[in-house]
This record gives sequence, C-alpha cells and structure tokens, in this order.
Amino acid sequence: MTGETHRFTVGKFLCVVICDADQTRDGVSLFASTPAETVNSGMQRLGYQPEILKFSINILYIRTPERSILVDSGLGVGKSQLTESLLLSGIELNRIDDVILTHGHGDHIGGLTGADGQLIFPRARYHMWKAEWDYWMEQADQISDPEHPVRKNLPAIKDRVQLIETESEFLPGIHAIHAPGHTAGHMVIRIESGGEQFLHLVDAIHHPSQITYPEWSPQFDQQPVLSAETRKRLIEMAEREQIAVMAYHFPFPGMGHVIRDGDELKWHPI
Ligand SMILES: [Zn+2]
Repeated sequence: MTGETHRFTVGKFLCVVICDADQTRDGVSLFASTPAETVNSGMQRLGYQPEILKFSINILYIRTPERSILVDSGLGVGKSQLTESLLLSGIELNRIDDVILTHGHGDHIGGLTGADGQLIFPRARYHMWKAEWDYWMEQADQISDPEHPVRKNLPAIKDRVQLIETESEFLPGIHAIHAPGHTAGHMVIRIESGGEQFLHLVDAIHHPSQITYPEWSPQFDQQPVLSAETRKRLIEMAEREQIAVMAYHFPFPGMGHVIRDGDELKWHPI
C-alpha cells in the first residue's frame, strides 16, 4: 500500500523501505520483446498472474552512524506521498545528507523538487554515475516541457551533485556497482556494515520472474541485450554470496533472496 514502510537493519545501519506507489502491469506488454506464449507460460509456472503483475515503487532510506541517505526520490509532486511518509517515519527532509540517484528516469528523480521548483532535500548532496548525469543533462536542454522531471529537477541540483566515475565506496559502507543496460549509466548499490551485506538491484530487474528468466528484458531497457547480461551477473552474484537483495519495482517491500532450485534460480521473498 502507498505510504507503507518496512524497517530492517544491515549491521549498524537502520534501513526503511517506503512504498511510493503500488501499481500493476501486464506481463506480455512489459516483456514485449519476448513471445507472449513464453511469458505467459513462464509466469504461470512460477505462480504469477501475467495479466496483473504487482509493480511497486520502493524507496530505500539508510541511516548510518554518520549519515542519512535516500536512494532515489520516487514519482514526485502530485503522484507521491514520499515526503509525508518520511515525516511519519520521523525522518526530517532537511536532515537528509545524501540522495543517491541510480539513473535519470522520472520515477527515480521525480521527487527532487516541489511544485514551486525548490529542492525537497535542501541540505543534501546528490550522487549519480557520471555518464548518466552527462546523458540526461544533454537531454534536459532539448526538452520543451518545463515540468518534465529531467528538465525541472536535474539542473536544480547541479551545484550539489557529486559524480561517480568508477565502482567505489563513495559513502562509508555504500558501494556503487555500474549496472548498464536499463540505461547506460544505471548503477546498483551494495551496502556493507558490521560484516553484513545488502544489494539494491534498483532497475537492473523489474519483476521477480526475471530471476528465473534473466533474458526477459522489459520495454524500458535502453540496451536490452546488455541489460540481460547485467541482470544475470548480479543475480548470480547474489545467489553465490547469499546476499539479501531488494529491487525498486518488486512487490513492496521488494526484498528477498535469490535461491538455487536444481538448475534454476528463483525468488524467495521475505
Ligand atoms: Zn524505475
């Protein structure tokens, strides 16, 4: 349900997943480049109803001993209750130190400014993969709609953005992993504290069925062949290293484990 929250810890880090929206999608149109019969039979075999797949927007908040961090900002003004949900969870907007922007799509950068164009998280530093930032900033110049999130929100943070050029621990305990394909500069986040790990796959994967069928790339992936390779690499890593994971669009709270069942990998939600 929109506004719902789920709390957990990773070592010394307190994490909260906030449901920014709860939508449904049709599996055949979501995976339009895969034959409909393949999608329908694969989904049914795994126990999903392909015509009404749950499709959430899960925003991760991380409180480390040093910093208050948000991963992506949801749909934004008029479409989201993120600010209300943060306040209800006792998280003040002007106490957010860092906002990690995993890529430039509207459902990830939409919540950076209010209706008046002012920054919702005025004290924050913003972190994005450099190639992703460069790509969307070039697009921003060509977009005529002043309300388009790329045109409205990215220039608004340009003096506060810190660009990531290599896979690294860019904040204490927070690691960037380049995960191209969905977009060229899409990144996923590995969290590490007190010997525990957690992997946020963001939009490297959109539905749990892709754990078993990583070759299904959704219509939103800019480079579908590359995104399938990236997806496969990350879910195999999660299974091999037994890391708990979440994904931005899995049914709320989007968390679970990748488990091996014979020759197949499967999703085991929490
Ligand atoms: Zn998305």
